Amino acid sequence: MHDFLSIEKVSRHFGALKAVDDVSLCIRQGEIFSLLGPSGCGKTTLLKMLAGFEQPDAGRIVLNGQDITALPPERRPVNTVFQNYALFPHLSVWENIAFGPKLAGKSRVQIQNAVENMLALIQMGDHARKRPQQLSGGQRQRVAIARALVNEPQVLLLDEPLAALDLKLRQHLLAELQTIHREVGTTFIYVTHDQGEALSLSHRIAVLEKGQIAQVDTPQALYEAPANGFVASFIGDANFLTGTVEEPQSGGFVRVKVTGLDSPLVTGRPGLHSGQCVKLMVRPEKLHLSLQRPASHERVNVGRCQIEAATYYGAHHRLRVRCGDRSLHVQHSSRDAELSPGQEVWISFQPEAARVVD
Ligand code: ATP
Repeated sequence: MHDFLSIEKVSRHFGALKAVDDVSLCIRQGEIFSLLGPSGCGKTTLLKMLAGFEQPDAGRIVLNGQDITALPPERRPVNTVFQNYALFPHLSVWENIAFGPKLAGKSRVQIQNAVENMLALIQMGDHARKRPQQLSGGQRQRVAIARALVNEPQVLLLDEPLAALDLKLRQHLLAELQTIHREVGTTFIYVTHDQGEALSLSHRIAVLEKGQIAQVDTPQALYEAPANGFVASFIGDANFLTGTVEEPQSGGFVRVKVTGLDSPLVTGRPGLHSGQCVKLMVRPEKLHLSLQRPASHERVNVGRCQIEAATYYGAHHRLRVRCGDRSLHVQHSSRDAELSPGQEVWISFQPEAARVVD
């Protein structure tokens, strides 16, 4: 895979608001790349600039060696799938999918073949004669995807395509999108505010905050090694602790003085110095809970806590424990029956599990 789509120092301002602020990204051919961030972070504006519906104030967009920044939408080898399907209500499924190829002046046979292929891809051959209003939300969105893909775009842009669907259907269509992607191999750029969707679907994700890129990485790297506190809290659940660096250690670890814990050894980052105030992040499932104090050779970082709340979720317990002057969330998967508020417990974690994020 090579850098196929380059977004180079692109900005879009609305008055004083920097909706997209000096963003640079390289997207590889054939990947599913997500733009993820909270409402208003600029992901739709960035997508619109890729589609040509919005013009950058600065910067350029290069697709496959061609500068497309000034090209109108219809001349870009790019198609968009919107949240609200945008199907033609008076046309059948077949005619909706055939619309693009007809406009492009394809022959009857070419159109017939292309539409049949798309109907097979989205498994809707039996619904070809129906109108959009006779379809479920999930079916309409599959038709919208087929109608975009039939034009054989170099890039398919998907703007929150599942947001209007209920949870079960969203999960189902996410899996289906992956299957469709495997079949066609087109580069997908997927906009969402839903971290679960982005994590499960994408090869790589750009997390956006206030018009800027907070981090670009694989789902696993974003979860395991977030670049800062914003990414850590946006992707998955996180506990945050503040402390003071005691001394950087070898292997990238650092000892930090934290109230309620025995100066834990955690994963550091370059440039830390003694006395520096830092923010640490540890995921709830990385905190190990035990009813007795763990032997020191078993666990490196140990703290004595009291259970504040315990909720049973079938496969695991979710607990809030008081540790020193703060509460921590713990996901505990063993089946100890005796977990109740007020009880004294011990938490422990490995140095790899906690990291300095800010
Ligand atoms: P959402 O998930 O809510 O759609 P988003 O991350 O896609 O959010 P954008 O729609 O890109 O965010 O908007 C980014 C910022 O730019 C927002 O503050 C929005 O109000 C503002 N904005 C977007 N389009 C315009 C416009 N045409 N005129 C003025 N402000 C705009």
